[in-house]
Amino acid sequence: MDVYGIFGFPIAHSRSPAMQNRAFETLGIDARYLPFLVAPEHLADAVRGVRALGIRGLNITLPHKTAIMPWLDSIDPVAREVGAVNTVIRDGDQLRGTNTDAEGLTRALLEAGAKLAGTRATVLGAGGAARASIVGLARAGASKIHVVARQRERAEALVSDLRTSLDGPILDACDLASTSLVSVFAETDLLVQATSATLDGTPTAQSFTNGLPLGALPATALVTDLVYKPLQTSLLRAAEARGLLTLDGLGMLLHQGALAFELWTGRPAPLVPMRAALSEHALV
Ligand code: NAP
Repeated sequence: MDVYGIFGFPIAHSRSPAMQNRAFETLGIDARYLPFLVAPEHLADAVRGVRALGIRGLNITLPHKTAIMPWLDSIDPVAREVGAVNTVIRDGDQLRGTNTDAEGLTRALLEAGAKLAGTRATVLGAGGAARASIVGLARAGASKIHVVARQRERAEALVSDLRTSLDGPILDACDLASTSLVSVFAETDLLVQATSATLDGTPTAQSFTNGLPLGALPATALVTDLVYKPLQTSLLRAAEARGLLTLDGLGMLLHQGALAFELWTGRPAPLVPMRAALSEHALV
Protein backbone atom coordinates (compact mmCIF):
# COMPACT_ATOMS: atom_id res chain seq x y z
CA MET A 1 0.00 0.00 0.00
CA ASP A 2 1.28 3.50 -0.91
CA VAL A 3 1.11 6.24 1.70
CA TYR A 4 0.37 9.92 0.96
CA GLY A 5 -0.45 12.67 3.40
CA ILE A 6 -0.74 16.28 4.40
CA PHE A 7 1.48 18.21 6.83
CA GLY A 8 -0.12 21.01 8.83
CA PHE A 9 -0.43 22.48 12.31
CA PRO A 10 -3.36 22.26 13.09
CA ILE A 11 -4.56 19.58 10.67
CA ALA A 12 -7.73 17.94 12.06
CA HIS A 13 -9.98 20.38 10.12
CA SER A 14 -8.49 19.45 6.72
CA ARG A 15 -10.86 18.10 4.07
CA SER A 16 -8.01 16.78 1.93
CA PRO A 17 -7.90 13.25 3.45
CA ALA A 18 -11.62 12.71 2.68
CA MET A 19 -11.17 14.01 -0.87
CA GLN A 20 -7.95 12.14 -1.74
CA ASN A 21 -8.96 8.84 -0.12
CA ARG A 22 -12.22 8.96 -2.12
CA ALA A 23 -10.16 9.41 -5.29
CA PHE A 24 -7.94 6.40 -4.49
CA GLU A 25 -10.98 4.23 -3.62
CA THR A 26 -12.81 5.27 -6.79
CA LEU A 27 -9.91 4.30 -9.03
CA GLY A 28 -9.07 1.13 -7.05
CA ILE A 29 -5.58 2.41 -6.16
CA ASP A 30 -4.09 0.69 -3.10
CA ALA A 31 -3.13 3.85 -1.20
CA ARG A 32 -4.00 5.83 1.94
CA TYR A 33 -3.77 9.58 2.49
CA LEU A 34 -3.18 10.58 6.11
CA PRO A 35 -3.27 13.84 8.08
CA PHE A 36 0.08 14.47 9.85
CA LEU A 37 0.14 17.01 12.68
CA VAL A 38 3.65 18.46 12.30
CA ALA A 39 4.78 21.15 14.75
CA PRO A 40 7.00 23.82 13.14
CA GLU A 41 10.08 22.71 15.10
CA HIS A 42 9.67 19.16 13.73
CA LEU A 43 9.27 20.04 10.06
CA ALA A 44 12.83 19.12 9.01
CA ASP A 45 12.60 15.76 10.82
CA ALA A 46 9.19 15.13 9.26
CA VAL A 47 10.65 15.66 5.75
CA ARG A 48 13.49 13.25 6.60
CA GLY A 49 10.74 10.83 7.69
CA VAL A 50 9.09 11.15 4.28
CA ARG A 51 12.35 10.05 2.63
CA ALA A 52 12.95 7.26 5.16
CA LEU A 53 9.42 5.86 5.12
CA GLY A 54 8.91 6.05 1.36
CA ILE A 55 5.85 8.31 1.55
CA ARG A 56 4.80 8.80 -2.09
CA GLY A 57 3.49 12.36 -2.03
CA LEU A 58 2.38 15.18 0.21
CA ASN A 59 0.23 18.22 0.49
CA ILE A 60 1.52 21.03 2.66
CA THR A 61 -0.68 23.47 4.49
CA LEU A 62 -0.30 26.21 7.10
CA PRO A 63 2.14 27.05 8.58
CA HIS A 64 4.63 25.04 6.49
CA LYS A 65 4.05 26.20 2.91
CA THR A 66 7.13 28.43 2.77
CA ALA A 67 9.17 26.90 5.59
CA ILE A 68 9.39 23.53 3.80
CA MET A 69 11.20 24.93 0.76
CA PRO A 70 14.81 24.61 2.04
CA TRP A 71 14.22 20.94 2.93
CA LEU A 72 13.23 19.86 -0.59
CA ASP A 73 15.54 18.91 -3.49
CA SER A 74 13.91 21.20 -6.06
CA ILE A 75 11.17 23.80 -6.33
CA ASP A 76 9.08 24.36 -9.48
CA PRO A 77 8.96 27.89 -10.96
CA VAL A 78 5.26 28.26 -10.13
CA ALA A 79 5.93 27.54 -6.45
CA ARG A 80 8.72 30.13 -6.49
CA GLU A 81 6.34 32.70 -8.00
CA VAL A 82 3.64 31.91 -5.43
CA GLY A 83 6.28 31.77 -2.70
CA ALA A 84 4.71 28.61 -1.29
CA VAL A 85 4.72 24.84 -1.80
CA ASN A 86 1.41 23.03 -1.35
CA THR A 87 2.36 19.74 -3.07
CA VAL A 88 5.45 17.51 -2.85
CA ILE A 89 6.12 14.90 -5.51
CA ARG A 90 8.52 12.07 -4.93
CA ASP A 91 10.76 10.95 -7.78
CA GLY A 92 13.04 8.19 -6.50
CA ASP A 93 14.76 9.79 -3.53
CA GLN A 94 14.20 13.31 -4.80
CA LEU A 95 11.44 15.48 -3.35
CA ARG A 96 10.09 18.20 -5.66
CA GLY A 97 7.95 21.04 -4.37
CA THR A 98 5.25 22.60 -6.51
CA ASN A 99 2.11 24.67 -6.10
CA THR A 100 -1.32 23.68 -7.43
CA ASP A 101 -3.32 26.52 -5.79
CA ALA A 102 -2.71 28.93 -8.67
CA GLU A 103 -3.85 26.52 -11.39
CA GLY A 104 -6.51 25.12 -9.05
CA LEU A 105 -8.22 28.50 -9.10
CA THR A 106 -7.94 28.97 -12.85
CA ARG A 107 -9.24 25.45 -13.58
CA ALA A 108 -12.23 26.12 -11.32
CA LEU A 109 -12.89 29.43 -13.10
CA LEU A 110 -12.62 27.84 -16.54
CA GLU A 111 -14.98 25.06 -15.43
CA ALA A 112 -17.45 27.78 -14.39
CA GLY A 113 -17.29 29.26 -17.88
CA ALA A 114 -14.89 32.15 -17.28
CA LYS A 115 -12.73 33.39 -20.14
CA LEU A 116 -9.33 34.15 -18.63
CA ALA A 117 -7.23 35.16 -21.63
CA GLY A 118 -7.32 38.96 -21.78
CA THR A 119 -9.51 39.24 -18.69
CA ARG A 120 -9.35 42.24 -16.36
CA ALA A 121 -9.32 40.94 -12.80
CA THR A 122 -9.52 42.52 -9.37
CA VAL A 123 -8.10 40.53 -6.44
CA LEU A 124 -9.13 41.49 -2.91
CA GLY A 125 -6.39 40.74 -0.36
CA ALA A 126 -2.61 40.67 -0.21
CA GLY A 127 -1.94 37.39 1.62
CA GLY A 128 -1.06 33.90 0.41
CA ALA A 129 -4.34 33.18 -1.38
CA ALA A 130 -4.23 36.54 -3.16
CA ARG A 131 -0.68 35.89 -4.34
CA ALA A 132 -1.57 32.41 -5.65
CA SER A 133 -4.61 33.89 -7.44
CA ILE A 134 -2.53 36.61 -9.12
CA VAL A 135 0.06 34.07 -10.30
CA GLY A 136 -2.68 31.78 -11.64
CA LEU A 137 -4.51 34.58 -13.45
CA ALA A 138 -1.26 35.93 -14.94
CA ARG A 139 -0.29 32.46 -16.17
CA ALA A 140 -3.78 32.06 -17.68
CA GLY A 141 -3.35 35.26 -19.71
CA ALA A 142 -5.15 37.98 -17.71
CA SER A 143 -4.40 41.38 -19.23
CA LYS A 144 -4.78 43.51 -16.09
CA ILE A 145 -4.90 42.69 -12.36
CA HIS A 146 -5.84 45.22 -9.68
CA VAL A 147 -4.73 44.21 -6.19
CA VAL A 148 -6.88 45.76 -3.47
CA ALA A 149 -6.03 45.39 0.24
CA ARG A 150 -7.05 47.19 3.40
CA GLN A 151 -3.39 48.21 3.81
CA ARG A 152 -2.24 49.88 0.62
CA GLU A 153 1.44 49.20 1.46
CA ARG A 154 0.78 45.44 1.51
CA ALA A 155 -0.89 45.57 -1.91
CA GLU A 156 1.96 47.70 -3.28
CA ALA A 157 4.63 45.38 -1.86
CA LEU A 158 2.93 42.36 -3.42
CA VAL A 159 2.59 44.05 -6.80
CA SER A 160 6.18 45.25 -6.87
CA ASP A 161 7.45 41.80 -5.90
CA LEU A 162 5.35 40.03 -8.54
CA ARG A 163 6.18 42.52 -11.30
CA THR A 164 9.74 41.20 -11.30
CA SER A 165 8.70 37.56 -11.80
CA LEU A 166 5.43 37.67 -13.79
CA ASP A 167 5.27 38.35 -17.52
CA GLY A 168 2.07 39.62 -18.98
CA PRO A 169 -0.56 41.46 -17.02
CA ILE A 170 -0.47 45.07 -15.96
CA LEU A 171 -0.49 45.00 -12.15
CA ASP A 172 -1.60 47.83 -9.94
CA ALA A 173 -2.38 48.33 -6.27
CA CYS A 174 -5.00 50.24 -4.32
CA ASP A 175 -6.66 50.17 -0.93
CA LEU A 176 -10.19 49.18 0.00
CA ALA A 177 -11.08 52.70 1.11
CA SER A 178 -9.81 54.36 -2.07
CA THR A 179 -12.25 56.55 -3.99
CA SER A 180 -10.90 55.01 -7.20
CA LEU A 181 -12.36 51.62 -6.20
CA VAL A 182 -15.52 52.42 -8.16
CA SER A 183 -13.56 52.92 -11.38
CA VAL A 184 -11.48 49.80 -10.63
CA PHE A 185 -14.69 47.75 -10.25
CA ALA A 186 -16.16 49.33 -13.39
CA GLU A 187 -13.32 47.81 -15.42
CA THR A 188 -13.40 44.38 -13.72
CA ASP A 189 -14.46 41.23 -15.59
CA LEU A 190 -13.53 38.95 -12.69
CA LEU A 191 -13.59 39.74 -8.95
CA VAL A 192 -11.61 37.34 -6.73
CA GLN A 193 -12.25 37.69 -2.98
CA ALA A 194 -9.03 36.36 -1.39
CA THR A 195 -9.18 37.87 2.10
CA SER A 196 -10.43 36.08 5.21
CA ALA A 197 -12.96 38.90 5.78
CA THR A 198 -15.95 36.74 4.74
CA LEU A 199 -15.02 33.70 6.86
CA ASP A 200 -17.61 32.19 9.21
CA GLY A 201 -17.59 33.94 12.55
CA THR A 202 -16.03 37.19 11.28
CA PRO A 203 -18.33 39.85 12.79
CA THR A 204 -17.43 42.40 10.11
CA ALA A 205 -18.16 40.10 7.12
CA GLN A 206 -21.38 41.90 6.17
CA SER A 207 -19.92 45.39 6.54
CA PHE A 208 -16.89 44.32 4.45
CA THR A 209 -19.29 43.23 1.69
CA ASN A 210 -21.49 46.33 2.06
CA GLY A 211 -18.39 48.50 1.66
CA LEU A 212 -17.60 47.10 -1.80
CA PRO A 213 -19.01 49.02 -4.80
CA LEU A 214 -20.53 45.88 -6.36
CA GLY A 215 -23.00 48.06 -8.27
CA ALA A 216 -20.09 49.35 -10.38
CA LEU A 217 -19.20 45.88 -11.73
CA PRO A 218 -20.26 45.20 -15.32
CA ALA A 219 -23.40 43.01 -15.58
CA THR A 220 -21.23 40.30 -17.21
CA ALA A 221 -18.70 40.14 -14.34
CA LEU A 222 -18.00 36.90 -12.48
CA VAL A 223 -17.51 37.06 -8.70
CA THR A 224 -15.69 34.33 -6.81
CA ASP A 225 -15.00 34.07 -3.08
CA LEU A 226 -12.12 31.75 -2.13
CA VAL A 227 -13.55 31.35 1.38
CA TYR A 228 -15.52 28.07 1.52
CA LYS A 229 -16.73 28.27 5.12
CA PRO A 230 -19.50 29.31 4.65
CA LEU A 231 -19.93 28.20 1.05
CA GLN A 232 -22.40 30.99 0.38
CA THR A 233 -20.56 34.05 1.74
CA SER A 234 -22.08 37.50 2.26
CA LEU A 235 -20.23 38.61 -0.90
CA LEU A 236 -21.63 35.81 -3.06
CA ARG A 237 -25.15 36.52 -1.75
CA ALA A 238 -24.80 40.20 -2.60
CA ALA A 239 -23.37 39.45 -6.06
CA GLU A 240 -26.20 36.99 -6.79
CA ALA A 241 -28.75 39.56 -5.69
CA ARG A 242 -27.26 41.82 -8.38
CA GLY A 243 -27.71 39.06 -10.94
CA LEU A 244 -23.98 38.42 -11.35
CA LEU A 245 -22.45 35.01 -12.04
CA THR A 246 -20.80 33.61 -8.89
CA LEU A 247 -18.44 30.78 -7.94
CA ASP A 248 -17.81 29.50 -4.41
CA GLY A 249 -14.43 28.46 -2.96
CA LEU A 250 -14.97 24.72 -3.16
CA GLY A 251 -13.93 24.64 -6.85
CA MET A 252 -10.39 25.88 -6.10
CA LEU A 253 -10.09 23.45 -3.18
CA LEU A 254 -11.20 20.58 -5.44
CA HIS A 255 -8.95 21.46 -8.36
CA GLN A 256 -5.78 22.09 -6.32
CA GLY A 257 -6.28 18.58 -4.90
CA ALA A 258 -7.11 17.08 -8.28
CA LEU A 259 -3.93 18.54 -9.79
CA ALA A 260 -1.86 17.11 -6.91
CA PHE A 261 -3.50 13.70 -7.41
CA GLU A 262 -2.66 13.79 -11.12
CA LEU A 263 0.97 14.73 -10.42
CA TRP A 264 1.35 11.83 -7.94
CA THR A 265 -0.46 9.11 -9.88
CA GLY A 266 -0.27 10.19 -13.53
CA ARG A 267 -4.02 9.48 -13.79
CA PRO A 268 -6.94 11.88 -14.35
CA ALA A 269 -8.52 12.77 -11.02
CA PRO A 270 -12.09 11.51 -10.51
CA LEU A 271 -13.62 14.95 -9.97
CA VAL A 272 -17.22 13.95 -9.27
CA PRO A 273 -16.53 11.66 -6.26
CA MET A 274 -13.82 14.04 -5.00
CA ARG A 275 -16.28 16.94 -5.05
CA ALA A 276 -18.89 14.77 -3.30
CA ALA A 277 -16.39 13.88 -0.56
CA LEU A 278 -15.65 17.58 -0.01
CA SER A 279 -19.34 18.46 0.19
CA GLU A 280 -20.16 15.60 2.60
CA HIS A 281 -17.28 16.67 4.79
CA ALA A 282 -18.63 20.23 4.80
CA LEU A 283 -21.83 18.96 6.43
CA VAL A 284 -20.16 17.46 9.51
P1 NAP B 1 -3.56 35.33 4.83
O1 NAP B 1 -2.25 35.09 4.15
O2 NAP B 1 -3.62 35.39 6.31
O3 NAP B 1 -4.15 36.71 4.22
C1 NAP B 1 -5.39 37.20 4.62
C2 NAP B 1 -5.68 38.50 3.89
O4 NAP B 1 -7.00 38.91 4.29
C3 NAP B 1 -4.75 39.65 4.22
O5 NAP B 1 -4.57 40.44 3.07
C4 NAP B 1 -5.56 40.42 5.29
O6 NAP B 1 -5.24 41.77 5.39
C5 NAP B 1 -6.94 40.27 4.71
N1 NAP B 1 -8.03 40.51 5.66
C6 NAP B 1 -8.33 39.78 6.76
N2 NAP B 1 -9.42 40.30 7.35
C7 NAP B 1 -9.81 41.38 6.60
C8 NAP B 1 -10.85 42.32 6.68
N3 NAP B 1 -11.76 42.29 7.68
N4 NAP B 1 -10.96 43.26 5.73
C9 NAP B 1 -10.07 43.31 4.73
N5 NAP B 1 -9.05 42.46 4.58
C10 NAP B 1 -8.92 41.50 5.51
O7 NAP B 1 -4.63 34.22 4.41
P2 NAP B 1 -4.71 33.44 3.00
O8 NAP B 1 -3.92 32.20 3.07
O9 NAP B 1 -4.41 34.43 1.94
O10 NAP B 1 -6.24 33.00 2.96
C11 NAP B 1 -7.30 33.94 2.81
C12 NAP B 1 -8.62 33.19 2.75
O11 NAP B 1 -8.67 32.45 1.52
C13 NAP B 1 -8.76 32.16 3.87
O12 NAP B 1 -9.79 32.62 4.74
C14 NAP B 1 -9.12 30.85 3.23
O13 NAP B 1 -10.41 30.42 3.68
C15 NAP B 1 -9.24 31.17 1.74
N6 NAP B 1 -8.49 30.20 0.91
C16 NAP B 1 -9.22 29.35 0.13
C17 NAP B 1 -8.59 28.45 -0.69
C18 NAP B 1 -9.41 27.53 -1.55
O14 NAP B 1 -8.87 26.51 -2.01
N7 NAP B 1 -10.66 27.85 -1.82
C19 NAP B 1 -7.18 28.39 -0.70
C20 NAP B 1 -6.45 29.27 0.12
C21 NAP B 1 -7.13 30.17 0.94
P3 NAP B 1 -4.08 42.28 6.42
O15 NAP B 1 -2.79 41.90 5.80
O16 NAP B 1 -4.34 43.73 6.49
O17 NAP B 1 -4.32 41.56 7.74
